[in-house]
Amino acid sequence: MASNAIEIEQLRKTYAGGKGTAPHEALKGIDLSIPTGSVFGLLGPNGAGKSTLINILAGLVIKTSGRVRIWGFDQDVNPRQSRASIGVMPQELNLDPFFKPRGALEVQAGLYGVPKSQRRTDEILRLVGLEDKADAYSRTLSGGMRRRLLLGKALVHHPHILVLDEPTAGVDIELRQMLWANVRRLNQQGMTIILTTHYLEEAEEMCDEIAIINKGSVVACDSTVNLLGRIDSKTMVIQPASPPKALPVAAGVEVEQRADGALALHYHARQTPAEAVLEAVRAAGISIGDVRTEQADLEDVFLTLTRGVA
Ligand code: ADP
Ligand code: MG
Repeated sequence: MASNAIEIEQLRKTYAGGKGTAPHEALKGIDLSIPTGSVFGLLGPNGAGKSTLINILAGLVIKTSGRVRIWGFDQDVNPRQSRASIGVMPQELNLDPFFKPRGALEVQAGLYGVPKSQRRTDEILRLVGLEDKADAYSRTLSGGMRRRLLLGKALVHHPHILVLDEPTAGVDIELRQMLWANVRRLNQQGMTIILTTHYLEEAEEMCDEIAIINKGSVVACDSTVNLLGRIDSKTMVIQPASPPKALPVAAGVEVEQRADGALALHYHARQTPAEAVLEAVRAAGISIGDVRTEQADLEDVFLTLTRGVA
């Protein structure tokens, strides 16, 4: 067993431009190690390059340069072994409408060379909750069922590593919970899980480690705990009841006066309790007309991390 399930060095991908469009550099030299047994999150906004990275791991997109090792197998040297080590649930719903779930799983197992005696089609159908739909045409399945079938397809060859590309985009709460329960169980059984998302909360809830990727580069990679510690900046916005004579002063609080008369107080929730911020406001003799808080969104997080300020 390799200590890193995946090792990526200086991975680059440039998509060739079409008619009248310039080539696009989607990955700009990615270095990443994904520990065996972890749930690893690739977090980034739309267009960051997450799917490109995943699809290179899956062997669906050809890299421009760099090195990819999956379960210790160099993708260029041992393409078959590296492909056999990983199962990918793609972002797109690319199912043949005339297949039935059982048949789709059997065909997928055949593609991966899983002998009939080693196939676990019924077990997988149960795992993804499609045993009742085993012989229904894919086109009659709901969106959620199709996603579950895609998860099943990713599992037919018993991969060491499972990759889920935006598994919960456009998915209802019930399916989301079912997906996470499955993912947790598979991880407890020893499977390394990689998932992409553009929701910070989702990465926070599921992942041991998170890499943040933006515009084709990794801007941060750390344990979830450490990362959240770096990005726990909060903003309290006070609308004073009357123009303030003095500004609040407190350690760890940065004050910004906004054009509409509001005072934005920036602080780190771990170091400075909200109560201390309010205390400073009162101490400055300001009576509060209105108060609200602003959470750092993903965009702020990228800015903070890329500026190197925390
Ligand atoms: P993400 O999954 O993070 O949203 P993608 O990897 O899908 O990002 O896309 C990264 C960038 O590469 C985007 O600017 C996208 O438009 C571009 N891109 C993705 N696939 C292709 C392709 N097949 N041809 C050209 N450009 C592409
Ligand atoms: Mg994507």
